[in-house]
Amino acid sequence: MAKFEYAPAPESRAIVDIHSSYGLFIGGEFVESAGGGSFKTINPATEEVLADISEATTEDVDRAVKAARTAYRGVWGRMSGADRGKYLFRIARIMQERAREFAVLETIDNGKPIKESRDVDIPLAAAHFFYHAGWADKLEHAGLTGGGGAPRPLGVVGQVIPWNFPMLMLAWKIAPALACGNTVVLKPAETTPLTALLFAEVCQQADLPPGVVNIITGAGATGQALTEHPDVDKLAFTGSTEVGKAIARTIAGTRKKATLELGGKAANIVFDDAPIDQAVEGIVNGIFFNQGHVCCAGSRLLVQESVHDEVISKLKRRLGTVRVGDPLDKNTDLGAINSAAQLDQIRELSAVGEAEGAERWSPPCDLPGKGFWFPPTVFTNVAQTHRIAQEEVFGPVLSVLTFRTPQEAVAKANNTPYGLSAGVWTDKGSRILWMADQLRAGVVWANTFNKFDPTSPFGGFKESGYGREGGLHGLEGYVTSGGDR
Ligand code: NDP
Repeated sequence: MAKFEYAPAPESRAIVDIHSSYGLFIGGEFVESAGGGSFKTINPATEEVLADISEATTEDVDRAVKAARTAYRGVWGRMSGADRGKYLFRIARIMQERAREFAVLETIDNGKPIKESRDVDIPLAAAHFFYHAGWADKLEHAGLTGGGGAPRPLGVVGQVIPWNFPMLMLAWKIAPALACGNTVVLKPAETTPLTALLFAEVCQQADLPPGVVNIITGAGATGQALTEHPDVDKLAFTGSTEVGKAIARTIAGTRKKATLELGGKAANIVFDDAPIDQAVEGIVNGIFFNQGHVCCAGSRLLVQESVHDEVISKLKRRLGTVRVGDPLDKNTDLGAINSAAQLDQIRELSAVGEAEGAERWSPPCDLPGKGFWFPPTVFTNVAQTHRIAQEEVFGPVLSVLTFRTPQEAVAKANNTPYGLSAGVWTDKGSRILWMADQLRAGVVWANTFNKFDPTSPFGGFKESGYGREGGLHGLEGYVTSGGDR
């Protein structure tokens, strides 16, 4: 089939003003790190160095937690919900006003296509602030404490977020925490700190009282220092299951609460009565959205045997039209892999897939010479025991398995240590309900995939973590019926 060539349509990066270096955002100001250390953040699509980022030490973490505690005791924990709501609305509006700036910066620092940061990440992040602004003065009517008294904030919350949705994860963490009256210390991922630092400027612009939001940049050691800090009341973490387990071990036996949003290996299940063309679009969105750097990605495709050949042939034809390249180009579907380390992991697991006997396929595509790139990849003839069917590749790599009966689909889908999400494609409503009941996954999408909304709780079963984010359930993780700290 002839491929329609698109003229380049690059988004201008003139709207962003990237400073040569950034300090830590503590107590409402940008300050130097106590240790004076720094690291560089780069554009993964070009390897261009973007800025020098301060590395927070244990001393800086302590300063940030103290600033958050002071703001909690002095201002935020005492403020009426209606007034907190006004700040959140203000932040949401500023984020909307500066949406283009946020989107371009996110794409430059992360490598994701501009059409995703512009149409998904940033609008959803703003929507989270709008949604939670609305809750701030209604918490006592929400039944959050199950009749155990008026909901009270927990105090100081430590939040550690990953690099796959930097701004969206920031919003998932900060918006509910603030709405409920907590103050926060947030650590963005090492490879994607820039939008969190722009958000710090938004906090200043919104006149948020100093210390309500503190942003400390650094690597794993900074995150660890935050989780170990004795004056943090709750930890909210999104990232790998390995680090999530380490955090759970660190806080075991302390009074700290936690929500852990960890890995996934979602089954996307296509029955023979599904609308196949629509399902193919859902498969592509499920695994190739955000380069597959998605904890709830539909990375295991389970296809009913009778339609396997048709689905795979249509999928391959569709993948031939996926445009890989410059993330700032508005036509790009698949951007850059976020880091050299992540590219190594994807390469390694894909090589294991081949060595274990699965059949590897990618459409012909020219990858840029510089930066970190991986083509859309499909493995067929995958067995349940293969590592690519069990482990999170966290890249644009799909593993295809087959099934004959709904029972077999359920057994295979649930045969994983994870349980974050699943997709079901079928014409029958009753089958959707039966499957949703059987699948051990926090979210089950029916005839769609990767749909997110601030009103809808998100979270996992088993090794995908515990606690929920979003919706009423998400608020529960930020309140207590107990004492006044
Ligand atoms: P991590 O889980 O290491 O990173 C998530 C966040 O935790 C980052 O801010 C990281 O900091 C921080 N962190 C790292 N070590 C610690 C620690 N000991 N205590 C507290 N915080 C810590 O994920 P990686 O970026 O290393 O990615 C590794 C793999 O994890 C990926 O290949 C992917 O498979 C999976 N992953 C899953 C995600 C999900 O949402 N399910 C998200 C990200 C990764 P820093 O970035 O500065 O090191």
